[in-house]
Amino acid sequence: MTHPPLGLYIHIPFCRQRCDFCAFYLEIYREGRVDTFVRSLLHEVGLSAQQHVAAGRPIQSVYFGGGTPTVLATTQLTTALSEIRRQITLASDCEITVEAHPSTISEQDLAQLLQAGVTRMSFGAESMEDGDLSRIGRPGAVHETVTAVTQARVAGFTNINLDVMYGLPGQSLESWQRTLAHCLMLVPTHLSCYALTVEEDTRLASNIQRRRSPAPDEGLQIEMDEAAQQILGGAGYERYEVSNYAKPEYACRHNLLYWTNGEYLGLGPSAQSYLNGIRFGNVADLDAYNTSLAADRLPIEDRTRLSEQERLRDAVIFGLRLIRGIPSSHLHQHAVNYGHVAVTAQLLSQQLIEEDSGRSRLSQRGLLQADTIAEQLY
Ligand code: SF4
Repeated sequence: MTHPPLGLYIHIPFCRQRCDFCAFYLEIYREGRVDTFVRSLLHEVGLSAQQHVAAGRPIQSVYFGGGTPTVLATTQLTTALSEIRRQITLASDCEITVEAHPSTISEQDLAQLLQAGVTRMSFGAESMEDGDLSRIGRPGAVHETVTAVTQARVAGFTNINLDVMYGLPGQSLESWQRTLAHCLMLVPTHLSCYALTVEEDTRLASNIQRRRSPAPDEGLQIEMDEAAQQILGGAGYERYEVSNYAKPEYACRHNLLYWTNGEYLGLGPSAQSYLNGIRFGNVADLDAYNTSLAADRLPIEDRTRLSEQERLRDAVIFGLRLIRGIPSSHLHQHAVNYGHVAVTAQLLSQQLIEEDSGRSRLSQRGLLQADTIAEQLY
């Protein structure tokens, strides 16, 4: 029997400092904390290999995210990757991504990552205007992004992503267009364009509350989203998901797993997994994570087995984020299961969802309201 592909996510929970908008689980970098974490992670790889991953099941993608994976020493990252290879079978064409903050990586680090088998670098550029970066408390400067991408290419990376954000405090439509144009000059194979959202308990939320920073302007964000589609589409990037654009053949294989209800194993504190129909998550606390692994226990704190209806719900909610959409039969079955028949009919009549050749997908206007539509269908 052939098993469906499996992805592996590794959460590195450290950053040099916290950006104003960020609500991810992480700690500020401290060398001793990092060393203990890496020991725990290597142990978790071994325990997980014994307990979760069915023999012969191919790992099609590995994704080091965070946090900022590249605050670790490069040898710590490559050691983790070697341990993964030793304990788990990776597919021969496995996509291996490392997220990097541009100011935490050198040409030598990049060469070592490439040599260790990393196939894809993802740089958190956020903006290509220094003023935007300082207004969101994101350390570093634009020239560091330019240098990091150039060095990655010199090192031999051919698959490079840039993450950028729009709707930032003080960012205008014109400065967003300049950011996109500057990104294009760096010729990435993939661009992720995220609308700024204000998460609770962040410095940004408190700045907005105290009127030190303007709240994101939804109308402007819509114009920015349209500008991205136009500029990136015109440059040969295909929008394949609400926030993601890629050159042909460069869609991120790992992230596609999430949107196609594929299975993945998450390691590291707070990492989430979906395996054999069960969703489970690691404890979001580094001390508890270390303690659990020191006692030879996986640091899992909750498990939920999904019913068939819940699996279909997730396939509909995540699948609608993809431009190719989902089978219409799945949408209508889900609507019946969860009492969303009237809501679904309304989304269709408002032309926020379109149906064609047996598939349902968000319309151009629907893409701009993807999160609201997902809430309505949950
Ligand atoms: S670098 Fe990324 S993960 Fe770290 S604080 Fe900033 S946004 Fe959050």
